[in-house]
Amino acid sequence: CGIVGYIGKRDVAPLLLEGLQRLEYRGYDSAGIAIHSKAGGGGLKTAKAKGRVRELESLLPKRFAGNTGIAHTRWATHGAPNDVNAHPHLDAEGKVAVVHNGIIDNADELRAKLAADGVEFASDTDTEILAHLIGRSQAEKLEEKVRQALRLIEGTYGIAVLHADFPDRIVVARNGSPVVLGIGEREMFVSSDVAALVSHTRQVVTLDDGEMATLKADDYRTYTTEGSRTSAAPTTVEWEA
Ligand code: GLU
Repeated sequence: CGIVGYIGKRDVAPLLLEGLQRLEYRGYDSAGIAIHSKAGGGGLKTAKAKGRVRELESLLPKRFAGNTGIAHTRWATHGAPNDVNAHPHLDAEGKVAVVHNGIIDNADELRAKLAADGVEFASDTDTEILAHLIGRSQAEKLEEKVRQALRLIEGTYGIAVLHADFPDRIVVARNGSPVVLGIGEREMFVSSDVAALVSHTRQVVTLDDGEMATLKADDYRTYTTEGSRTSAAPTTVEWEA
């Protein structure tokens, strides 16, 4: 239902929670967040909960520090609204985190194939399939891993992806479900809804269907799911507060 993401220098969890709150008007049944953790040896940390964004906030561990993350409010299509089915979804190794708006039409078939390969699913969602497909890709670059996974998917998606081995970026893609980049000063935002961006920046890039983007703190680029670069000059949104 709703996606927000951030990469930059600021403490990411409060920013993402604020973004989710701006999307509350759309309705949702659960919420969750994944960050590149600064604590310990790094890696991804996630928290998710059925119910309001406030409940998610109240169960965030004290040490949830990081400067890059993605978050989601879910409107269930595959699997009951509960803690486990809330996004983000992880691959088997816990290295890939995915938030997803939309519906994977060939979910049953893909799930059966992955299960036959020994993949154990943690949730009942169609989205978790994407996390496993990305995690199992042998491609070197994160962008190529995501691309390979998307080639197998039929249906609609707006997605944002974190990978523990690629802490300098967020990869996003759109097909039938909106994804908008917010361009800041040495920080980048992404959301499914411009309402979550306008308090931070008015410079936005709206992805087209079949388009992907890589966000780094001080740089972004857009390209098609086939890999060819697309022009992505930001436009200025008019917004009355
Ligand atoms: N199909 C996904 C799910 O049921 C995403 C739903 C949404 O757009 O929030 O988890």
